[in-house]
Amino acid sequence: MLQYLYMSAPVKIQYLKGIGPAKAKLFERLEIATVQDLLRYYPRTYQDRRLGMPPNEYNSDALIVFKGRVLRTQQIPARSVLIFKAVLENEKGEQVECTWFKKRMYRAFRFDPFGQLKKDFCINNEVWVIGRKNDRGAMFATQLTVEEAYVAADALTSLHAGRLTPIYALTEGLTNKQFRQFMYEALQSDTLVNTPEILPKNLLQKRQLLSAPQALKAIHFPNSLAELTTARARLAYEEFLLLATAWGIKRTQTKILSKDYSYEIKKNLLTPFREQLGFEFTNSQKKVINEIFKDLTSPRPMNRLLQGDVGSGKTVVALCAMLLAVENGYQAALMAPTEILAEQHFLTFKRMLKGLPVKVAILTSSTKAAAKKKILQDLADGNIDILVGTHAVIQDGVQFHNLRLAVIDEQHRFGVKQRSKLKEKTAKLDLLTMTATPIPRTLALAFYGDLDVSTLSELPPGRQPILTECATSKLAYDRVRSEVEKGRQAYIVFPLIEQSEKISAKAVTEEFEKLKKVFPQFRLAVLHGQMSQAEKEKIMADFAAHQTDILVATPVIEVGIDVKNATVMVIENAERFGLASLHQLRGRVGRGEHESYCVLVPQHAGSVAKERVDIICATRDGFKIGERDMQLRGPGEILGTRQSGELEFKAGDIFKDRDILYWAIEDRDEMLAADPSLSAPEHAAFKRKLQELYQENWHLIDLS
Ligand code: ADP
Ligand code: MG
Repeated sequence: MLQYLYMSAPVKIQYLKGIGPAKAKLFERLEIATVQDLLRYYPRTYQDRRLGMPPNEYNSDALIVFKGRVLRTQQIPARSVLIFKAVLENEKGEQVECTWFKKRMYRAFRFDPFGQLKKDFCINNEVWVIGRKNDRGAMFATQLTVEEAYVAADALTSLHAGRLTPIYALTEGLTNKQFRQFMYEALQSDTLVNTPEILPKNLLQKRQLLSAPQALKAIHFPNSLAELTTARARLAYEEFLLLATAWGIKRTQTKILSKDYSYEIKKNLLTPFREQLGFEFTNSQKKVINEIFKDLTSPRPMNRLLQGDVGSGKTVVALCAMLLAVENGYQAALMAPTEILAEQHFLTFKRMLKGLPVKVAILTSSTKAAAKKKILQDLADGNIDILVGTHAVIQDGVQFHNLRLAVIDEQHRFGVKQRSKLKEKTAKLDLLTMTATPIPRTLALAFYGDLDVSTLSELPPGRQPILTECATSKLAYDRVRSEVEKGRQAYIVFPLIEQSEKISAKAVTEEFEKLKKVFPQFRLAVLHGQMSQAEKEKIMADFAAHQTDILVATPVIEVGIDVKNATVMVIENAERFGLASLHQLRGRVGRGEHESYCVLVPQHAGSVAKERVDIICATRDGFKIGERDMQLRGPGEILGTRQSGELEFKAGDIFKDRDILYWAIEDRDEMLAADPSLSAPEHAAFKRKLQELYQENWHLIDLS
């Protein structure tokens, strides 16, 4: 035991060679505190830096990797920039001319910005260069703008050049070159050798998986694509098996739990609610409501996933469940991912519950202190029946009188962690999770176990298909104009820039100013994530009340927004959005009786971007779109360029790695059947890892 502890003891990152306390701070920003964390910081992508075609056969702007000897060099003094050039030649006699530019900011005349370069690039030295082809006066040799250069004889050059080279998502102050060198250090260290093998031996053999150290080595510095694939398979399998097992254990434990409260279907709220709703439930909604009521009235806690495409009407289903709780004198809570969405749900509930004796309140991070205090008091006293809020708010420090039902809206797939804190509030709780980015039913059933998934399979009647087209801005604006003239409303959405709401807010505000000139006759408003909650609410409320015609926005409106009179969705720079996001955005229109349009305006359409746009134009089914989204990623994006927030897995991808996922599910089932509490010695390391990952977060798993 002692030995085991010693082996897996965390090693602080600052003890790695070359990293001191200052550098360690930068690593902290990447959530890397230990060498173990570093080893698990997988590349964002890989660059193929093996030698390829002769340099003159590449298109301009292509990445070229070249190895050769220095024939001649030259420094060119110019007014504002300093230029250094070198001509290289390889064994085949192919030549490239490399250019470096430096701003003339080094006034100190002794300092030569090209000093190191001149040392590395002395005549006849053998070097590697990685750069982009440019077209500047290419008379004799192919011209390269150099991004990285290495002396061939240097010991570490093979980390950076002549191979599949890892590229990491980093923070300012760290370069990929440094990072690769640190990673190399970590891979040489005892920490790697001592990485405990958490997978049971029989499974490693059965699935022919690499050992943990082998896989970690290969994921960072693969010798071939095939090796990378096997490394990733091992790491993905491990992630899947851990989560699948967590779910598996949770399910058996939930099954034997029983609630110390019960529901009775009284209908003193449900019936008047239904009568004043103004529409009939679809058959699919009726079926799902029945499933939920059956869960609620059964003696064990509900843990149901409700999946349904955009616009399938999940909200009223949730509201029915909450009303059943309220009828029985209990409280219910609904958690939404954004404040705008929470606000919208709140308004919807108030409207739908008009005249009924149900008290609804909203709590978000921008609720004023005094109001918040009152809400918290009322919640504790039981004066509030339904609380709507954002995930963060409801989780932190809210005391309920008798919360029995929690609904989580727009949850990303497979989420585990967010449920946790809520569970602390009350030992047993009925939980309904809703998602519009569904996974295929068979997969969900296998993963979560049976019984727990409901699917809304039809849209409410009268919905017309949304006409989706790809067009220039000008044509898109014509569409906006003609619809607004008919009395409809429109959204114009711009992408997030560098995942930063701040920069995006600035960009969208600039576009908004331009658009005001394009549509001087209409009422425009702008919405982005940097606005105060009050501003956002006002803008959404104005748009919903048709006080404005066109809403210019960042993707903050991506999920859930529901304004029936809006019939045009223009998506600018459409190639920057993933398929799932495009589908969600498109789902913001076509929610009423009017014919609706989604116009995609691509800017730099590369081939994948184009394919994505083609798919979204041709496909309406959210399930299919989700799958295609994953398949589209090419070999350069082996670990995916996923949108943040969706990163449930670091190595695995539930769509691309479907086979591995099924392995994990099958193996989980066998393992738990044979050893339900994982107490056999061969499961000890795996169990410890599970505890480490989920114990803290997810109290219903009892692995003691
Ligand atoms: P989502 O499943 O995407 O969350 P919503 O719950 O927001 O969808 O519902 C979309 C719209 O459809 C809402 O305006 C809602 O009031 C309406 N709706 C829901 N169910 C029905 C129904 N059975 N008939 C007509 N309209 C419905
Ligand atoms: Mg919704």
